[in-house]
Parts: sequence; C-alpha cells; structure tokens
Amino acid sequence: MAEQIRTTTENALPASISRLHDLAYNLRWQWDAPTRELFARLDLSLWESSNQNPVLVLQGVGQERLNEAVGDSEYTAAVDHAAAMLDAYMASDATWFRQEHGDAGGSTIAYFSAEFGLSEALPIYSGGLGVLAGDHLKSASDLGIPLVAVGLLYQQGYFRQRLSESGWQQELCDTNDFGKLPLVPERAPDGTPVVVEVPFPERPVLAQVWRAQVGRVPLFLLDTNLPENRPEDRDITDQLYGGDVETRIRQELVLGIGGYRALERLGIEPTVYHMNEGHSAFLSLERICTLMQQRGISFAEARTIVQAGSVFTTHTPVAAGHDYFPPELMHRYLGHFTQNLDIPWHEFLALGRHDPNNEGEYFCQTIFALRMSSYANGVSRLHGEVSRDMWKSLYLDTAVEEVPIGHVTNGVHLLSYLSPQLAGLCDQYLGATWRQGHTASQLREEFDRVPSGELWQIHTKHRWDLMRVVRQRLRSQLERDQSLEESSSGADVLNPDALTIGFARRFATYKRATLLLRDPDRLARILTNPARPVQVVFAGKAHPRDEGGKELIRRVVGLSRQEPFRGRLVFLEDYNIGVARTLVQGVDVWLNNPQRPLEASGTSGMKAAANGVLNVSTLDGWWDEAWAATRDDDAPPGWAIGDSTSYDDKEYQERVEADALYNLLEREVAPLYYDRDGDGLPRRWIERMKSAMYTVSPVYNTDRMLREYAERYYLPAMDSYRQMR
Ligand SMILES: *Cc1c(COP(=O)(O)O)cnc(C)c1O
Repeated sequence: MAEQIRTTTENALPASISRLHDLAYNLRWQWDAPTRELFARLDLSLWESSNQNPVLVLQGVGQERLNEAVGDSEYTAAVDHAAAMLDAYMASDATWFRQEHGDAGGSTIAYFSAEFGLSEALPIYSGGLGVLAGDHLKSASDLGIPLVAVGLLYQQGYFRQRLSESGWQQELCDTNDFGKLPLVPERAPDGTPVVVEVPFPERPVLAQVWRAQVGRVPLFLLDTNLPENRPEDRDITDQLYGGDVETRIRQELVLGIGGYRALERLGIEPTVYHMNEGHSAFLSLERICTLMQQRGISFAEARTIVQAGSVFTTHTPVAAGHDYFPPELMHRYLGHFTQNLDIPWHEFLALGRHDPNNEGEYFCQTIFALRMSSYANGVSRLHGEVSRDMWKSLYLDTAVEEVPIGHVTNGVHLLSYLSPQLAGLCDQYLGATWRQGHTASQLREEFDRVPSGELWQIHTKHRWDLMRVVRQRLRSQLERDQSLEESSSGADVLNPDALTIGFARRFATYKRATLLLRDPDRLARILTNPARPVQVVFAGKAHPRDEGGKELIRRVVGLSRQEPFRGRLVFLEDYNIGVARTLVQGVDVWLNNPQRPLEASGTSGMKAAANGVLNVSTLDGWWDEAWAATRDDDAPPGWAIGDSTSYDDKEYQERVEADALYNLLEREVAPLYYDRDGDGLPRRWIERMKSAMYTVSPVYNTDRMLREYAERYYLPAMDSYRQMR
C-alpha cells in the first residue's frame, strides 16, 4: 500500500523536481534548513498543517502548483542543489569517524530504543528519552559512525493532548498512516516485504520491518499490525507506553527479539549492541541463543561474549522508569524460550533480581541489562553517581565508587533546534566551520565579533513569532470551547516585548511544574510589575495514567484563566518537537525545577541555551555540571535555583526552592532583562546570551556525546568482542 502511494508520488513529480522525492524520504531534511525551505515553498499551508511532513506535502500538493514550481527556474535550481548536497553528504568519506578510526574493521553498532523523537511528523516518541534517541541517530550520521537503529512502529504513536473545559487532559489517539510518513517497507530481494517471526507461547508473532532513513543511518521499525497475527497480537505495536504490564512485556519481546532477528534477516551483523534503556534488554537472550547454537558453547560462555559487545544506558532514577515483570508473567512469555538456554528457570530469573534467591522478586529489565553488558552508563555526572549508588547491591564486594556504571552526559543535536537565523548569524561572524564544532575557547573569542544588536534583533523576532504561534493556538483552542470565549479572546494574550519564561516538558510530578505557582500572590506581583512585566508559557503532556501529573496541568490551566494571570500565564496544548523548537527559540528564560536528583539529565535547557536563552534551573542533571563548569571570567549562562542541599522534608524543600526562584526573578532576572542602554539593548543580558551559546553548546550537544560513546564504549567493545570470536 505504502509502496504504491510512493510510486504514485514519484511518477507524478515532473522530472525537473523529481529529486524532491529522495529529499522527502531522507529525514536529513529535519536538520537541513534549505531542504525544509523547499517543501515549505511548495505549499506552505500543507507544510504547516501536516506537522512539517514533506511526504504529505508531495502527496497533497496540487498539479497546478507543481507546474508553477517547474516553471520557476530558481526553484528547480534549489532542488538540484539540495539533492546534490544530499548525495554528497551520503557519499562523503570525510567524516570524523572515518578520519579518526578508519572503517573499524567493518564493524556495525546496533542501537535499540522503544522510542525515537526525530520530528513532529513522525509521532513515535513521548518525551526526552525519545528525543535523545533521535538526536543520537542524527549525530551518528553526521559523524559517520557505522550505526543502525531498531525500534517499534506504533499504529497510534503517543496521544495528542487536548484540555477539557475544566483543564483536565484528554487523550486523542490518531492512527498513523504509514504510507503518509517518511517510511518505506523493507523488501527482500524478491520484492516481498521483510517479516520476522517472534516466538510467543503457542504461536509466533509476525512483525513487518519498515525503514526510516536518518541521513546515513537506517532506522528499522517493527510493526505487528498484520492480518496473519491474532487480533491481540496485531495490537502489540498499537501504542507507545500504552496498555498494562503484559502489553509491555509483549512489546519488549518484539523489540528485543524481533529487532535482533530483523537485523539478522537483513544481513546486518552488528558487533556492538547499545540498549537505550532496559526496554530492549531481551535482545541479549536471542544473541546468547544464537551464539550457543552456532558454536556449540555453554550459556556462560555465550554470555561472556555477549557482555563484551553490549552497551547499556540507564536514563532515570525514578522507580516508574524501570520495568519490573512478575515471575508468572515472565514464565508465561519466556518459559518456552529458555529451554534453548540450557539453564534452570530460577537461574534465568536471578539475572533480573537484586536477590537471586528471592522467588517472589520481580524481574527487572535494568538489572538484566546491567548483567548483560560490559559497558553501562548514566546520562550526567550526577546521574552516574546516583546510579552507582542505586545499583551497588548488584556488585557485592565492590566499593560504590567502583561500581561499573560510568556517565556520558546527554546532548542535543544542535542543527535540529538552533534557529536558522541564528545559524546564519554564526556563519557570518564565526565562519562556517563553527558547524563542525569549535571549542568553547575558540567560540569565546569569535563571539566578540557578533554584534549585540543583531543578536538581539533576531531573538526579538523569534519572541514575536512565538507570540503569533501562541495566539493562533489559543484561538483554535477557544473556538472549540465556545463557553470559554468570553474569558479571553486569544488575540490579546501575552506581550511580545515582555520578559518571557518557558516551561515545557512531560508533566511528571518530580519535575514540579507548579513550583512557580506556590505563592500565587507573589507570582502575581512579579508578572504584573508595570515597569518589568513578566509572562510564562507552559506546555507538556502527563502520562495517561498519571493522575498526579494531570492534576498539575489542571492547576496551571486553572490559574491561567484567573485574573491577574489571564493573558500573562498560558498553557499550550499538545507539546511536541515542533512546539519545543518554537519555544526554545522564542522565550527569554528556560525554567527547569526538578527535584534533585531525579532529573537524570534533561535536555530541553540545552536546546534553549543553543538559542541564547538563559536557563533558570535547580542544580540537577546536566545543569549541575554546566553550572559548576562556569568560569569566573565568563558571564554566567543563566542562574541556579538554590544550592544542592537536599532536605528530608519535601514540603520544606519546595518552599525553600520556590522562595529562591521568586527571589531570583525579582532581584536578578527581571532587573537585568529590563536594564537597557541608549539603544534599547539589554547589554548585560546579551552578554549572558552569548555565554550560553559559547559555553553550553560546544559541550552539551550530541556530536560530543557520540564521540564519547564511540571512543569510550563502541570501539573498545568492538575490540573485545572481536577478540572473543
Ligand atoms: C527536548 C524535549 C524534551 C526533553 O525535556 P526535558 O524535561 O528537558 O528532559 C521533551 N519533550 C520534547 C518534545 C522535547 O523536544
């Protein structure tokens, strides 16, 4: 079906712009501004209404408009140029990895994740974990790291968010039409779709393999919605993080075992497997079974080899972020499987337990993944520490600092989040090689050349753009809820020139979205200060089963409808990657106040800093590290809320930190923002903006992160795996 649509598109495109097809089906458009321009120019309203999906633009654009485009020689030349750039990108040998490490003996790394956040047009992610996985692929592609990726293709993806009139979150489920997404079915040489079999009790479950091309990196996605499957099996890949614990174990069997088999079927033989979170941990079982059969070796021998070639990244200290499966459920789904492993059942279960002898203990995927990998890491310095402490009981006779869990601090894929206008400004004043990565000390000097006025002008335009988007969205929210019409018109909310604070992320309770609302009167005084007005934009989804998170949303929405907050504090529905991009470019301050140390890293603040937005954050995750690295001779890239003291009394902790936040806003943030010179420029604020761009971005990006993964984990794992062979 999808193939047919694709062919139609291809045929329908006139020859002179037929390369638009190739450009649409390689997600490199997500971070290549000139390619995005091409699709936006072809049909701006389709581009916007389709969540910026080039495939839908090509399928929906009218014949008349196509003819027009063909007659526009400037447009056809731009298509040719973008296609030539894509070809050159795909063919280039001049990548970091090639230059530093050659072809690494032809080794391949397989990266497994339950979610990938590559673009708002491909809704198979829920939050930061997925966005990080998406950025991982983009940087692996840019750096030429030989990596392939595996995930699940969800029929519904993650829900779309709407608010009821009372501010309660409603979840809408759209059905993804794979034929309208930048995906193609993977085909065998004889043209038939590639389908793999996953052994389930009493039947095999079939999964079809799709491909999303992310620059040079292929992402293989498994889909069980096939007529050959039982109805309940067709639904395994229905929703990301939907259903109960049984759905979860079924999804993880398809991801781990189906994913392993998919690569095998495609003739890809990775030497290193990287598990992004524990969801894919079952892949190690299939790998062990395969090795045992191929070589006639024991479980223990195969396990040692698998460990040598496995990397595991844990992403959260929050208990709900780890899978725990009851022993009966494990037995139902894996009992038959472990016959091939030739070890007693309780020995197998012990691999996922703190206490191997506790028959009642649930099987934990994180523990299992740790026991299957030689390389394990948390995602910031602090989170590495917290993880070592959390899992130290697995490593008896090992001092906590010797627990073999390191850290690789997360990053963001800069070109996916940096505004094209700011990127242009950098091209102009820093020289185009900044895109390959200048060090902080190079950038520090180079940023002296960037005229403050130009930087401020671009930022101001982004703030205005944000206001336009917010008003438009609020208007359509209001049109839906007629009864709210009187309370606000949507048109007059927010002041385009006021200090604007952004808070957007998943509404998990530990992120404490309502910390800022703790003392409404004090907040009101801050927002309504006539000389120094402040406003706040909130966005984010709560997990459908997280009543606590939904309650936080309701409180934000409730306050946003009351005086004097109306028009000064808004909640935007349906947070996604696109909304994130607009927010991190258009606000002045990025607020982040998780309860330390529960935010393993956080990445949205890195996107903000790349755009010269100042972070105001508790000392948790990446900010704990970035703040400590701030040099005395640089302007600070934002502010820290409180210090790193933890109190046993959470209520007291919140009061202390809310106070610290209000103090910062009243005494430092707002005064600095409104301190203008004769030209109307906030000089000292702009110094901090530049500092955010030159101190944060060169470190907190996924190119740096991927170089670390490659040199500290992938390459050594390749070596030790090869030696075992
Ligand atoms: C970057 C991003 C996140 C990460 O948010 P943090 O709270 O900083 O971890 C979540 N969701 C979306 C859509 C993002 O783009």
